[in-house]
Amino acid sequence: MSEVSSKELYEFKRTLKELSEKKGRGTELVSVYIPPDRQISDVAKHMREELSQSANIKSKQTKKNVQSAIEVIVQRLRLFPRPPEKGLVLFVGMIPKGGPGTEKMETYVFEPPEPIQTYTYHCNSEFFLEPLQHMMDVKEIYGLAVIDRKEATIATLKGKRVDIIKHLTSGVPGKHKAGGQSQRRFDRLIDLAAHEFKKRIGEHMNDSLLSIENLKGIILGGPGHTKEEFLKGEYLQYELKNKVIATVDTSYTGEFGIREVIDKSMNLLEEMDVIQEKQLVQKFLKELIDEHGLASYGEKEVRENLQMGAVDTLLISEDLVQTRKTMECINCGHKVKITYKDPNEDKELVCESCGDKMKVVKAKDLVDDFVKMAEEVDSTVEIISTETEEGIQLFKAFGGIAAILRYKVN
Ligand code: ZN
Repeated sequence: MSEVSSKELYEFKRTLKELSEKKGRGTELVSVYIPPDRQISDVAKHMREELSQSANIKSKQTKKNVQSAIEVIVQRLRLFPRPPEKGLVLFVGMIPKGGPGTEKMETYVFEPPEPIQTYTYHCNSEFFLEPLQHMMDVKEIYGLAVIDRKEATIATLKGKRVDIIKHLTSGVPGKHKAGGQSQRRFDRLIDLAAHEFKKRIGEHMNDSLLSIENLKGIILGGPGHTKEEFLKGEYLQYELKNKVIATVDTSYTGEFGIREVIDKSMNLLEEMDVIQEKQLVQKFLKELIDEHGLASYGEKEVRENLQMGAVDTLLISEDLVQTRKTMECINCGHKVKITYKDPNEDKELVCESCGDKMKVVKAKDLVDDFVKMAEEVDSTVEIISTETEEGIQLFKAFGGIAAILRYKVN
C-alpha cells in the first residue's frame, strides 16, 4: 500500500468535510463505490436497473433529480474502461444553493486513498461518506500489549483490524510459601525471571513497533501490576515509552485481553486526534512564553523560517482559506506574490518598477503553499482542526499559521 502524504490526506479531509455539508432537497443524492476488481459494464447495468426502479419514486421532483443523477453517472462511467487501482467513487446530485429552484447538479468523481472493499449504491438526502471516513482511520495505527506475569501478547490495531504480532510465555513459577532461607532465595529467582520476561517483552515490542511510521500510540493492558512495572522499568525504548497513552485493567490475557483493551479504550481512541492536536498547540504556546523558546507564528515569519529550513513542526489551521497569488506586470514582467484573505478578492495592483498594471498569473491555496514548502525541507506538517479551544486559538490569535522551530533564528 503506498503511503499517502500529509498534504493528500489534508486535501482528502477537506473534500470529505465539503461533501458532508451538502444536503439534497429530497432523497436524491447518489453515491457509488466501485471496487477495483468490479467490471464497469456490471456497474452500468446496475445503474440502468436503478433508473427503471426510480420510476416508482412518488415525488415528481425527486424522481427527476435521481434520474438525472444516474444519467450523469452512466456518462461518467464511459470514461473508464476499468476502475483505477484503488477503485472509483462517484457522488452526484442536485444541491440547492438557496431557495427552491436554485438546485445545481454537482458531480464528484475520484480515486480514494485506500482500495474500496465493497460495491455500494446509495441514494439519500446526503452523500454516503462512511467508507471514505473509515479510510481515514486506517491511517492510524496503535500498538497494544497485554501483559501479566505468565504471558504477554503484542498486537497492532489498524482501523478496525487487529493483527497479533507475538505471543510470549514466561515460565515464571508462581510464588509459594516455603519459609526461611530457601524462600528468600526462591523469591529472588522469581524476581529475576520476571525481570527477564519483561526484558523479552520490551525487546519484542521494540522490534515490531519502532519501525511503524504512523504509530499513534500504545496501550498496555493486563490483569495485574506487571504492566505498570513494565512501563516504569527500562524495558521499552524511550520513543515507544513516550507513546504509551494508557494502561487498562483487563480480566484476560492473550487475544481476549487484546479485545478487552480495545473495547475499554474506544472513547480514548476516538479522542486521540483531539488530544494530539491540543498537545501540539500547547507545546507551541509553551515555547512561545519561554524567552529562549522555539516558537514562530504568522504568515511572514513562518514562511521565512521554513525557507531557512528552521521549522521542525508546522502547525496550520484546517479553517485557513486564503490564496497566494503571483502577479506579473503586463509591461515589464516584474513579479510579486500576495496573499489574499478572500480568495475571490481582486485588487488592482500597480507595478512598483514601471507603474503599469499587474495581472494574476498563478493562484494557489495558502495551505498548499505552506505544506509544499514544509515538505521540501522535511518539516513535519500538522493540520489542526478548530474542534478544540487550542485549535481556535491557533486560528484566531496566530492567523492559523505557527511553527515549532529546530533552532532559533534572529
Ligand atoms: Zn512593470
